[in-house]
Amino acid sequence: MASSSPVFRFAPSPNGRLHLGHAYSALANERLAARLGGDLLLRIEDIDRARCRPEFEQGIHDDLAWLGISFSPDARRQSEHFDDYRRALDRLDALGLVYPCFCSRQEVKDAVQRREAETGMPWPRDPDGAPLYLGMCRLLSEADVQRRIEAGELHVLRLAMDRALARTASEALTYRLFDGNGEEREVAVDPARWGDVVLARKDVPTSYHLSVVTDDALQGVSHVVRGEDLEAATDIHVLLQRLLGLATPRYHFHALLLDEGGQKLAKSRLSQSLADLRAQGMTPEAIRRQLGFT
Ligand code: GLU
Repeated sequence: MASSSPVFRFAPSPNGRLHLGHAYSALANERLAARLGGDLLLRIEDIDRARCRPEFEQGIHDDLAWLGISFSPDARRQSEHFDDYRRALDRLDALGLVYPCFCSRQEVKDAVQRREAETGMPWPRDPDGAPLYLGMCRLLSEADVQRRIEAGELHVLRLAMDRALARTASEALTYRLFDGNGEEREVAVDPARWGDVVLARKDVPTSYHLSVVTDDALQGVSHVVRGEDLEAATDIHVLLQRLLGLATPRYHFHALLLDEGGQKLAKSRLSQSLADLRAQGMTPEAIRRQLGFT
């Protein structure tokens, strides 16, 4: 049920211990939720069964409790909701927007190199720097696809970006960006710059993009507060929301904590885990102060 009070969420992945960057993001959510009188949910983003570990998940709960951030009860664990992602994928498939791709990373790389050698021009990269998919598997015949799937060949499922954009051509692909001080503005997105994104991985029957969009909608999230490293990916999220008939939350992107050398948290004091800092006698109050949340 849609609730009238805002709903925020902090959504870490249990593939390592939380560090100060995570603390910053969780505290930014806490502060904005408090300011707008909203609820704060915790979501465990553990679709990657190979990298996520129970001790890291426990660590998330311990670290957040230690920091003194309270969440609404019952964190959602993505690994318990693969059916929801399957349904979203089926819906996109029924619209004719999904196709299987059997290419390995190496094949994709080689194809891009060949194309660049042929044309003498750089092939476009997505905002994360990866070359856009060249679309080789879109040329496979139905029979070929069937044969390879039946033979058990591993494949990802990709979004046919051109068809997805054609389908949403009459809609405004925008979201509201909020700053937490009452200012908002409309931002237009450009999903084409991501090309035919992967919606389900070879090893996992979903992807970050599909799960995050599905969960934000199912959990009634109205305000997403996350790092600016995910700002460009919001283009894909807005497109998926339109295709799936889901509401688009408001978004706020906070700056990332940088280490002393100006890098995203690396092997410096700043990237030490909260557990290590705690063991060294750091207090939650000191962390809040250091990160500007007092
Ligand atoms: N699970 C993602 C991460 O740990 C965050 C996802 C999001 O906030 O949309 O980076």
